[in-house]
Amino acid sequence: MEIEVRKLNALKKYTGSFKFEYLPENLELVPLAKIDGAVEVTGDYEIFDDDSVEVRLGVEYTLKGQCSYCLESAKKRVSYETDILFVDGDDGENYYYDGIKINLKTAVDDAILISQPSLLLCREDCKGIDVPK
Ligand SMILES: [Zn+2]
Repeated sequence: MEIEVRKLNALKKYTGSFKFEYLPENLELVPLAKIDGAVEVTGDYEIFDDDSVEVRLGVEYTLKGQCSYCLESAKKRVSYETDILFVDGDDGENYYYDGIKINLKTAVDDAILISQPSLLLCREDCKGIDVPK
């Protein structure tokens, strides 16, 4: 999952889109939950004159595990979109790259972490184990 900026510049392909599947490893997820299958990553990019690259990044995945309240099995489809700027050289604010190609892994991992719900619930109004109906 790379954007080959130098090559695309040479080809004058200053804008484009991408789509791929990603299997994340070692991400701190909601307790008792894991990502079911692959994360669908989609996005558009635009390369500017100063070699900075704007990326609209989308991630979509299914979170599966045990309800945070009652421990029944639970599932949630998460979809999230974010705008990111990659700059050539570290400016302390944006993502950066070496001016040659962008590796999207860190940004995708971050998007997955940010997009996670704080709880995974079996249903919106789950009251937990000990509440009588
Ligand atoms: Zn529940």
